[in-house]
Amino acid sequence: MKQDFPIPKEIINITQTLEKAGFEAFLVGGCVRDLILVREPKDWDITTNALPDQIISLFSKTVYENDFGTVAVLSEEIEDETLKKVEITPYRLESTYSDNRHPDKVSFSTKVEDDLKRRDFTINALAYSISDNRIIDLYQGLKDIKDKIIRTVGEPEKRFTEDGLRILRTIRFSCELDFSIEPETEKAIFENRELLANISKERIRDEFTKIIMSKKPMYGLILMKKLDLLQYIAPELLETIGVEQNKAHAYDVWEHLIRALQHSADKNYPLEVRLAALFHDISKPESRRWGKEQNTWTFYGHEVVGEKKARKILENLKYSKKIIEKVAKLVRWHMFFSDTEQITLSAVRRMITNVGKENIWDLMDVRTADRIGTGRPKEDPYRLRKYHAMIEEALRDPISVGMLKIDGKKIMEITNTSPGPKIGFILHALLEEVLENPKKNTEKYLESKSKELINLPEDELKKLGEKGKEIKEEADDAEVKKIRGKHWVQ
Ligand code: ATP
Ligand code: MG
Repeated sequence: MKQDFPIPKEIINITQTLEKAGFEAFLVGGCVRDLILVREPKDWDITTNALPDQIISLFSKTVYENDFGTVAVLSEEIEDETLKKVEITPYRLESTYSDNRHPDKVSFSTKVEDDLKRRDFTINALAYSISDNRIIDLYQGLKDIKDKIIRTVGEPEKRFTEDGLRILRTIRFSCELDFSIEPETEKAIFENRELLANISKERIRDEFTKIIMSKKPMYGLILMKKLDLLQYIAPELLETIGVEQNKAHAYDVWEHLIRALQHSADKNYPLEVRLAALFHDISKPESRRWGKEQNTWTFYGHEVVGEKKARKILENLKYSKKIIEKVAKLVRWHMFFSDTEQITLSAVRRMITNVGKENIWDLMDVRTADRIGTGRPKEDPYRLRKYHAMIEEALRDPISVGMLKIDGKKIMEITNTSPGPKIGFILHALLEEVLENPKKNTEKYLESKSKELINLPEDELKKLGEKGKEIKEEADDAEVKKIRGKHWVQ
């Protein structure tokens, strides 16, 4: 079958080098699938009948540090990340999998057909020869791509038993590509779900992350629930199913969480925000009490217990310390903004101190996801804009003598004076000048000006200082007004 794909010249060079040396070379796996789908490939994988030593001898810079025969060709001067490291793997033949995880031994083959046979799904088992402009499609992968179907190569049960991670890979590709799962494949997932218990947490985490980062993570979680896979990833999520909430919520806790997650994906928020959206109410089940006075359910302190629980989940999945810390903070402090009576600037400042300057905007995004995830968003857009303006106001360095390229100590030193009100007056007089003309904020100018000012009589200096203070306050107010104006709030 003839195709025409946009393939980078670097990749063409690699396959040509192999072919000129008398070997075969094909693009294979995800990149072929993505070329057909007109998606940008995440990486370029090449398969060949050359052996590792033969591959290494053909390229100037390579790395070969694995048991699978994969040689990476490196190029440095290139911008495109996907081309910096291109992996070439000899045709492989995989035999038995006694631990459901790794092939017991990897042997190389002389036939590309053998390599395609070992691949997980029909859509990932296509090989493309650039020089022949020809696709090898032994398992009707092209048809499955057209029909948007994920189907294992060969008998699903056998393939999942060989490597249980393929169960999660099915869900992952289904979310990433928006494909449905072929019924026999889906049935085999459900029947063999226990295989996931044998898979390393790191491998599970990597696929789970891809599900979360896909465009349709909510669908992924619904699929995992349907196929009873959640117990192998975050069993805590199971407890949230069917937990009813108060009137502000249209959904139970489970649906609220997955909808908050989906909104984070719709907004293209980063991983940490998505994880926080998914786990922010994870302790609602055990924090739920009937509030007699309120005549509804209450969840006091769920964010405090929730932080611990979210940590445990993420630690179990072996996420990095950095990710865990950030998500934990976002979960711990997600409740602040529902306390609408408390939007004073000092409350906002406290909040920033709690969650950290570097996390405050992410916290706002978690808040947005939380709000949309209720199904009954109640905060009006004005209030949200107000929060944003107040955060900017709190984060801003106020206008003060601290901005000057001189301080009181220096003034005393160069004018030979001891501490007293005069120093403050001078600083404010200097500030007024700098506010008028920021170019004057140099050590040289301020030092000479200080020497001049120190000679003025005290009452005159006092007047200058007080005027400086007034100007400072006006300038500060103007900055706050500017921020508020930007957000259309008062
Ligand atoms: P992505 O776009 O995320 O990189 P991909 O299809 O390239 O998707 P990878 O995990 O990079 O997925 O794997 C590359 C190829 O290797 C797959 O397309 C598939 O052919 C094969 N493969 C990867 N993991 C497995 C596995 N566990 N079992 C069988 N084949 C696999
Ligand atoms: Mg890939």
